[in-house]
This record gives sequence, C-alpha cells and structure tokens, in this order.
Amino acid sequence: MLADLHIHTTFSDGINTPEAIVEQAEKAGIAAMAITDHDNIQGFERAYEYAKSRKDGILVLRGVEIDTDYKGRDVHVLGYYFDPQNKPLCQALAWNRSGRVERVARIVDKIKSFGYDLSFSEVREEAAGARSLGRPHIARVLVKKGLFPTVNAVFDTLIAAGKPAYLRQVKMGPAEAADLLHQAGGIAVLAHPAEIGNLAVVETLLDTCHFDGMEVWHPSTLEENPPHDWAQIARSRHLLMSGGSDLHGNPGRFPLHLGDFPIPYDDVAGILHYQP
Ligand code: AMP
Ligand code: ZN
Ligand code: FE
Ligand code: FE
Repeated sequence: MLADLHIHTTFSDGINTPEAIVEQAEKAGIAAMAITDHDNIQGFERAYEYAKSRKDGILVLRGVEIDTDYKGRDVHVLGYYFDPQNKPLCQALAWNRSGRVERVARIVDKIKSFGYDLSFSEVREEAAGARSLGRPHIARVLVKKGLFPTVNAVFDTLIAAGKPAYLRQVKMGPAEAADLLHQAGGIAVLAHPAEIGNLAVVETLLDTCHFDGMEVWHPSTLEENPPHDWAQIARSRHLLMSGGSDLHGNPGRFPLHLGDFPIPYDDVAGILHYQP
C-alpha cells in the first residue's frame, strides 16, 4: 500500500487535473494522497469529490505548499489539516498568488527584452484554470513555440535562480508560514530539505521555525551527493516524517507519473493518522 503527500495539479503548475491524479493514483496502488498546490488549496475539492465517486475510495487530504523566502533562498512549507476558511491563511495565500502574477509578468518582460517572442497573455493562456501562476507556465510556452527543447532547458538557460531572467519575489518567511498554518489549526512540514542544498541552513530552519514534520522522502534525495539521512534527522528532532513525489507531470522532470517514486503508506502514517 502506497501514499503520496506532495502532488501538484492544474490548479498550480501541474499538468494533471485533480481527476487525472485520482485515476493515476488508482492505477499506482496509492491508498492515500494529498493535493499540495503552490499557494492555493482549491484543487483538493475536485480530487476529493472525484475520489468519493470511485470504487477505490482513495483517501484525499487537503494540503498546500507555501512559498517562502529565507535569506534569499526558496523554502517551501507544506501544510495539512488547516481550516480552508481561515481568513489569515487565505489572505496570505492570495497575497503570494498576486506576487506570482507580478513576478511572472516582470520575468516575461525580461525574456522579451532578450529578443524572444513571448507575451504575458500567452503565459496566462497556458496557465488557464491555474489559480497560481509560476515559472513553469512561462517555460511551457517557450517550449510549445519551439524556442527551447524542454522546460528544463528554459530553466537552465533563463529562469532558474541566478540565470539572466530570474527575478525574486517578496515572500513571507518560513517561520511565518508555519505560524499561519498553526493558527488555522493545521500542521507545518518543511518540504524537500535536500533541495535547500545546505545542511546547516536546514538545521537552522528546524531550530528557528515551528515545524511539526519534515519531508524525508522526496525525489530530490536521489540526486544528493553525499546523501543525508533525513529520516534520522527527523527522528532525532521528534518530527513527523512525510514523503511525496512532488509530481508535476512535466516531461523531463522526474517523476512523470504517480507511482514512479513509490512511498510506503506506513512511512508517512504519522502524518496520515495525525490527531490534533
Ligand atoms: P515558481 O513557483 O515560479 O518559483 O517556480 C518553481 C517551480 O518550477 C517548481 O515548483 C517546479 O515545478 C519548477 N521547477 C523548478 N526548477 C525547475 C527546473 N530546473 N526544471 C523544471 N522545472 C523546474
Ligand atoms: Zn511547482
Ligand atoms: Fe517545492
Ligand atoms: Fe512541490
């Protein structure tokens, strides 16, 4: 029996609709999963309703991945079990989303200034239905227009951190995101520590932010050299252990399908059976 607590849909920068995610999960033998779109929580309802209508009866949790900034680094905070009507949380997510729109527009201007044929409305169209705009939407337009071979190539050439069209966005800090989730009755999980790329920074984050858990299992751990024993770090700090595929469905970016990065249900049972 498998679980997956980190999944993106068309409500942010994923390729799959919430319904398609449920169908993939059924095929992959996933018994419990969480929809964790960037800075928005609306994809959950569709996945939940669809899962309820199917015979497999997959457990779907409401989740979110909040974008934060810690001293110039992107730090992602996963939330579960929060009240979706909570005003401060909803307002903060809306603020992040409008920051995304502004940032994407500025990045598009920058890319245009390099001579690429690109408009903000094309990016908007690519993100049709997405409540949360992001760099992948820009990359997909450039790929569809044949200007780059892959989404990864756009990131590597233009929009990854440090590349010429990269622009920062003003965001809340990770401690603030964790507090927001707590005041909404939820729990806060430090997402993909391996992606932070610096153990001392991860330790400082764990020391200074009120996290309930850490995402121990994530595809980014496969690329770590040397690898870290995130499970041991979580255990020593009495943190709940979480895990997810971070599925977006973008070709060229692992994993492509649910089940490609399998996570045993029991490994994340602490989150699945969490009782406030
Ligand atoms: P943004 O939300 O605009 O900051 O964009 C971040 C998102 O871009 C991540 O959640 C990934 O989905 C995607 N991403 C980040 N780096 C890469 C990369 N090198 N290649 C492809 N996609 C990436
Ligand atoms: Zn993403
Ligand atoms: Fe993330
Ligand atoms: Fe993610």
